[in-house]
This record gives sequence, C-alpha cells and structure tokens, in this order.
Amino acid sequence: MDTSAFRAWVHESARLITAEAEELTRLDAAIGDGDHGINLRRGFQAADEMLDKAEAETPGAVLQTVGRALISKTGGASGPLYGTAFRQAGKSLADATEVDVARLGSSLEAAFNGIQQLGAAHEGDKTMLDALGPAVTAYQVAAEGGADLVGATRAAAEAAERGLQETVPMLARKGRASYLGERTIGHQDPGAASTVLILRALATVAAGEAT
Ligand code: ADP
Ligand code: MG
Repeated sequence: MDTSAFRAWVHESARLITAEAEELTRLDAAIGDGDHGINLRRGFQAADEMLDKAEAETPGAVLQTVGRALISKTGGASGPLYGTAFRQAGKSLADATEVDVARLGSSLEAAFNGIQQLGAAHEGDKTMLDALGPAVTAYQVAAEGGADLVGATRAAAEAAERGLQETVPMLARKGRASYLGERTIGHQDPGAASTVLILRALATVAAGEAT
C-alpha cells in the first residue's frame, strides 16, 4: 500500500463511520453516554479534511496526521485511544513509501499496544481491544501462511467482526460503561463496533474496492 492507499483508507473509514454514526451512538446509549458515533464522526471528518490540506507524503505521515486530528477533535475516551493507535501505527512505518503485508501487520500491532498502554485494558474487558486483538492475530496468522494484503486485511476484518460479537456477553471493566456493571451484559461494545468499521475500510481499500 502506498501513500494514496493510506489516504483512501482514512477517507473510507470516515465514510463508513459517518454512515454508521447513529448505530454507534445507539450502542453507546445502551451502555455509555450515547456519544460514540458523534465523537468519531467528528474526529474522522476532521482527519479527512486535515489530510486534504496536509502534505503527508508517506504512509507513516498520513497515519500520524490522522492520530493528531483524532486526539484534538474526537473527544471522549475513544479520541485519545484511537489517536494514539494511529500515531503509533504511523511511527512504526517510519519513512517507508510502500507498505507490504508484514509491515502493515507490525503497524496494526503497534496500534494495539498504543491503546493498551494508554487505556490499561485487556482483552475480555469489553473494549475496542476485543475487536482489534483478534484482528491483529488473524492478520499475522494469514500473513505467515502466505496471504497477500487483500487476504490478510480481510482475515483481520472478519476476526474483528467475530470479536465484536464476543463482546455481547462480556461485563465492561473499562471506561464509562464500567459504571453500569452487570447492565452492560447483553450489548455490543461501541468501540469494538467502530474498530470493525475501520478494519473493514482497510480491507475494502486493500482489495481496491473503495468508493
Ligand atoms: P466515552 O466513553 O468517553 O463517552 P466514547 O463513547 O467515544 O467515549 O468511546 C467509548 C468506547 O471507548 C468504549 O466502547 C470502549 O470500546 C472504548 N474504551 C473506553 N475505555 C477504554 C480503555 N481504557 N481501553 C480501551 N478502550 C476503551
Ligand atoms: Mg460515550
């Protein structure tokens, strides 16, 4: 993937998040304060606009610009968490101008580690990590098995989707949802749902299908 593919990923993420903002907000209304869709739509639209103006000339610079935009514009717990994820992913790409399957895998892992370090959550706590963790693993298994970018990103998106479903019976232990305790059982985690969208956007762009 080159710089323009990374720009397309951000654009497709913003498009999907905008289309699904009401659904994300509905999920957050059930176990949080009902702002996740609004927060992320604002953040990703700002990131997309910032990229239109910015001279981000490498994939790493694109992701770091997105990270900065998300940190300053998103709000909520998810803003700094996703912002850090994109910044760490961008940093891990250094000055590469073309990102191959192995390198994209390391950057997804860097994103996961960034979220974990900042938010101190673990898989099973009912957060975005319950979608991203299985996605990173599935990506790496696919890549080690010889998958190309299309196959590995598709495996990641599918694993994130399964991870999202697995958040339903979980009890939230982090963020606002944790205040509701047992009442969070039976609902999808909104952050895991938005992670699915971002990874679906990546798979779509990798497959060359982005609109
Ligand atoms: P807020 O909870 O501040 O209203 P959002 O509604 O935008 O922020 O985001 C909520 C989502 O953030 C949750 O569904 C969860 O996935 C994620 N989240 C919250 N706290 C953490 C954490 N400590 N680590 C990882 N993800 C978290
Ligand atoms: Mg919220």
